Formats: sequence, C-alpha cells, structure tokens
Amino acid sequence: MVRRRGTYRIKIRDKQLICLFCQHDEFLHREVYMDLNPLEEPVTEQLTLQTFSCTSCGDIRMFQEKNRFDHTLQQHVTIIEYTEVTKE
Ligand SMILES: [Zn+2]
Repeated sequence: MVRRRGTYRIKIRDKQLICLFCQHDEFLHREVYMDLNPLEEPVTEQLTLQTFSCTSCGDIRMFQEKNRFDHTLQQHVTIIEYTEVTKE
C-alpha cells in the first residue's frame, strides 16, 4: 500500500476533483489494491485504485490510474495529477 503524505488538490483528465458532498477540493491520498476474483477462482489480477478522501467531510472517491495520450506534449501522461497543498 502506497500512501502519499500531505494534502493534495487532484485533477483528473484536466478536471478539478471536487467533493460531491461539501465542494471541498483538498484530499488525502491512499493507494489500495483490490483482488479481481469474479468467479471465486484463484486471484489472477489485482486492480490498483487511487483513493482520495476529502479532508473536510471524509468522503472517499476512487479512481483507476490510466494513461492517456497528450497531443500537446506528444507523449503518454497519467490522467491523475497531484498538486500538493502547502500549509502556511
Ligand atoms: Zn467533503
């Protein structure tokens, strides 16, 4: 399990992630692994999910990390962008 320290503002596919419940835009990050086991057979695959919990109300959103092709940069980039929020 990977955990980024600190608080982040998140962009997913260039859209700012906003909490659905309280409109807050700062989240704590955690990476979780889920076993894909639909037929109750031995686990063959793991799904990695990035979870973001709202620092205000605690609501958790989950996203699967993917790459997309950025035509401006002419390279594959991750769809999830992290911007650390620095505390003053
Ligand atoms: Zn919230």
